[in-house]
Amino acid sequence: MKVKCPDCKEIAELADDFSFVKCSKCSFDMTYGDYVKYIAYKDARYKDILSDYK
Ligand SMILES: [Zn+2]
Repeated sequence: MKVKCPDCKEIAELADDFSFVKCSKCSFDMTYGDYVKYIAYKDARYKDILSDYK
């Protein structure tokens, strides 16, 4: 399954059994659990950055 790489925004590969996410464009390689946490962390930071510019 294809997912978006949180680091380089290219297409990353999610294993069919949801065990890991790997990106061939950069060195991103995480378990799916860590990937979800990483996305949430980046998203939270992004929202923080936006709110600073209000
Ligand atoms: Zn990547």
